[in-house]
Amino acid sequence: MNYISTRTENSEKHSSAFVIKKGLADDGGLFVPENLPELSLSDIESLISKSYPERAAYILSLFLTDYSREELLSAAEAAYSVEKFGGPAAPISKVGDDYFLELWHGPTSAFKDMALQIMPRLLSLSLGKTGEEKDAYILVATSGDTGKAALEGYCDIDRVKILVFYPVNGVSNIQKKQMASQKGNNVEVVSINGNFDDAQSGVKAIFSDNSVKAKLAENGLFFSSANSINWGRLAPQIVYYVSAYCDLIAEGELKAGELLDVTVPTGNFGNILAAYIAKKMGLPLGKLVCASNRNDILTDFINKGVYDRRREFFTTVSPSMDILISSNLERLLFFVLGAEKTRACMNKLSSEGVYSLSDAEMELIRADFAGCACSEEETAKTISDLFGEFGYLCDTHTAVAANAAAQYKKEGGNKMLIVSTASPYKFAPAVLSSLGEAVPEDDFDALDKLFAVTKCAIPKNLANLRSASVRFTKTVDPKEMVDCII
Ligand SMILES: *Cc1c(COP(=O)(O)O)cnc(C)c1O
Repeated sequence: MNYISTRTENSEKHSSAFVIKKGLADDGGLFVPENLPELSLSDIESLISKSYPERAAYILSLFLTDYSREELLSAAEAAYSVEKFGGPAAPISKVGDDYFLELWHGPTSAFKDMALQIMPRLLSLSLGKTGEEKDAYILVATSGDTGKAALEGYCDIDRVKILVFYPVNGVSNIQKKQMASQKGNNVEVVSINGNFDDAQSGVKAIFSDNSVKAKLAENGLFFSSANSINWGRLAPQIVYYVSAYCDLIAEGELKAGELLDVTVPTGNFGNILAAYIAKKMGLPLGKLVCASNRNDILTDFINKGVYDRRREFFTTVSPSMDILISSNLERLLFFVLGAEKTRACMNKLSSEGVYSLSDAEMELIRADFAGCACSEEETAKTISDLFGEFGYLCDTHTAVAANAAAQYKKEGGNKMLIVSTASPYKFAPAVLSSLGEAVPEDDFDALDKLFAVTKCAIPKNLANLRSASVRFTKTVDPKEMVDCII
């Protein structure tokens, strides 16, 4: 299987190991497989008796053809082990008539783990496959969650080092403690006296600083990124849709071949794009409902055919969906409309902040997608209703999806899979307040209180955090960030 860029027709073809190492194409586009492998109903049925890592190795082997099945299986077994996930990697809870696919049982209690637990292993293997002599140096600026998920994913991975910067007063106490207590011999965490933008600008400046690159090269290293547009992060996300379908057949909830609708709480469009790819491969999925919070740029795009980022940005209780540029949408444009049109749209987006598609083009997209948005009030009410009616506690992002699914289902549809992307404990203050409870000032007290109120289990990684010992205490000014390299 070869990979091409979303922005150039007949672009150069690359192996999967190359695109995982490289990240972004030279023309600024994203890498996509040149065609999608097929998944027949009998392929799906043959996966029903398999474990999550075996299902992952099978699906990944269709895309990452320059990795051996043994390599993929051992990467998947290490990534999705019972020690790390406390059980199956992507379990389903039936709540009323709907199925919640819980993608947050990993080491940091959020769905980024599904990709970030395996991607570093794929990157490490790619170095050998592409004849790379230097080791990879990952630099991350984080406003909280991605940093911790990346640290957990890259921790003690061969031939990779990782350095994470975070704004000293820009993350919650829990996030700070999570990062400062990170284990591993190849990790480093530094806080900066500044905000997230300072951290991000600092990292960008370092990435393009030739003297730093030269210093890295002298030490046998090169810069790589943990970026969410890397194909190595997208491919593992296809797996859990196939896996969920298998589980629903196994549990007698679905007949083989029956259509299943999916609702995904969407930010950067990676998760829902993985569902689209699974569907195009042959997984019997019906409508893909793209759920937005108050930042409803994607809902507007799907319903009106105009992608317009020239709008007010809102900070919401579902911060991982507070996004005005959904990078992975570019891959959908490519699959539906081709490279020429994709390049034109991306150019218009960067020069004018807006692009639009014709009705005929939008009909192609609406054949697979619907868009529904959920307000802050509806998010809180959904959390409280689901808990009140079913005793099911969900986080704010999942609540946006559950509300969007309910809106969509008014028009009918198939059985519905709602993608749940974070543990409610990850957003304990907002969840408590949705339940009508007073919110303690201290984050750790909020965890305890949410447990006292709901009696739902606290994930181990969060329960142990208060007493975890701190390893990293360094704080620097933004201009000193460059001195922290290596
Ligand atoms: C990243 C994230 C999302 C958004 O996923 P995308 O793939 O960026 O659309 C939703 N919920 C949570 C909790 C996340 O961390």
